[in-house]
Amino acid sequence: MAKPDSRISRALRSVRHSLFSVLLLAGCPSLTRAVAQDRHEFTAVHMGVPVRIVMYAPDTASARGAARAAFARIAALENIMSDYRPRSELRLLAEQPREWVPVSPELLAVLNRAVEIARLTGGAFDPTVGPLVALWREARRAGRLPDKAALARARERVGWMLLSVDVERRQVRLAVDSMQLDLGGIAKGFILQEALTALRAHGVSTALVEAGGDVVAGDAPPGQLGWEIEVAGADDEVTARARILSNSTIATSGATEQFVEIDGVRYSHVIDPRTGLGVTGSHVVTVIASDGALADAVATAAGVLGPGSAAMLSGRFPGMVLGFRVPVP
Ligand code: ADP
Ligand code: MG
Repeated sequence: MAKPDSRISRALRSVRHSLFSVLLLAGCPSLTRAVAQDRHEFTAVHMGVPVRIVMYAPDTASARGAARAAFARIAALENIMSDYRPRSELRLLAEQPREWVPVSPELLAVLNRAVEIARLTGGAFDPTVGPLVALWREARRAGRLPDKAALARARERVGWMLLSVDVERRQVRLAVDSMQLDLGGIAKGFILQEALTALRAHGVSTALVEAGGDVVAGDAPPGQLGWEIEVAGADDEVTARARILSNSTIATSGATEQFVEIDGVRYSHVIDPRTGLGVTGSHVVTVIASDGALADAVATAAGVLGPGSAAMLSGRFPGMVLGFRVPVP
């Protein structure tokens, strides 16, 4: 396929002390298409970060309409899945332990994925990790490890097997009192994927949605093999695959600016469910997978398990690409 004459390069993200950045190099529209497709771009803040939509559409009006629908979908899902909003469906669910609670199709879908990925990652990804996240936030503020008794109490309320999802009856059950669900490691990817679906429903399938370093790509731009995403510091396989991303997704986790150092050890904001404490180690993991929820959650799990886990995870998630790197300070 012919190379585009010129490229538009834009830093999608340069974060975490410049440890990681993603560049999107989108090609020019092909002249061979029957219907001219122009590139359109929209940004709005959701989930605490700028969400960017890039799309090819025949005119500005249809592009705007599609973007509006996608952002509305994102906002609606954020309302359901937020652990910060006291009235979110997720929070209300946690207030009804030990009984089957009917849930929305969206919450059912994301919780079902979360439990499935928790099982396949041996619990490294755990959507019930909320009490430990809360304790760890306190520890980070205080600059010391959580009290042993408090840690033990929190751990009694954590464990993905305490969360049951009944897909047929569309209901969910939390097995013990005072559980806290936290979808921080999967919701972003899930929601970006849903945004892409909303764009499709508006007739726009050549699109990319990106937020906080997670990228969900639809069909390739006109005349291109795929969206050209550059992941700074990535290995050859990730680099090659990200260069021609279409109908696929990328997520990153690890070595963030959200670390804390206690007694000379650096801990991340991601919890290792095996210890109940923040993950140690400075690796960054990039995952390329078929959908946003999967990439996001497995990136979190791989960050917990470390580089030694790559082979095991690749075996359990066929077609997935995992790349670990240790950023240069
Ligand atoms: P980012 O913060 O860059 O989106 P992740 O996708 O790895 O990074 O998500 C981290 C978030 O996931 C945490 O802020 C917390 O809300 C939640 N979390 C922490 N530890 C775990 C875990 N072991 N499994 C699932 N979710 C987790
Ligand atoms: Mg994640």
